[in-house]
Amino acid sequence: MIKNIFRNLVAGSATRAYPIEIRPGFDNARGELENDIDGCTLCGICAKKCPSQCIRVARKQNLWEFDPYACVYCGICVESCPKSCLVQDKTHKKPTRMKETLILKKEVKPKLKVVAKTSG
Ligand code: SF4
Ligand code: SF4
Repeated sequence: MIKNIFRNLVAGSATRAYPIEIRPGFDNARGELENDIDGCTLCGICAKKCPSQCIRVARKQNLWEFDPYACVYCGICVESCPKSCLVQDKTHKKPTRMKETLILKKEVKPKLKVVAKTSG
């Protein structure tokens, strides 16, 4: 036991001084969800597959909404997205005092329509 005490006194701390020292996420960790809304087609598959029902897609309003506090980080939406625009990074959501919903609006370019042709 004395040996252990001296060894622990000499050795560094076994834990990290969080939040000063933050451990980088593991490879393949399923962290925060991000949507590259430019690549999203608002197909709604992620919303249908999500077991926590934390994604809502409103096609008419071009909105993609996500409640990060209901997400269980399962990654099913990422796997099922046909456009690969959903990704999970390695970090987890930081503690907060207020709940927020992420609302992304897809900018849709107006379709050009030929109204008249002139010949010069
Ligand atoms: S599955 Fe992908 S493309 Fe379809 S709404 Fe979700 S994020 Fe957008
Ligand atoms: S990671 Fe899982 S719980 Fe979170 S939004 Fe995607 S499907 Fe839903």
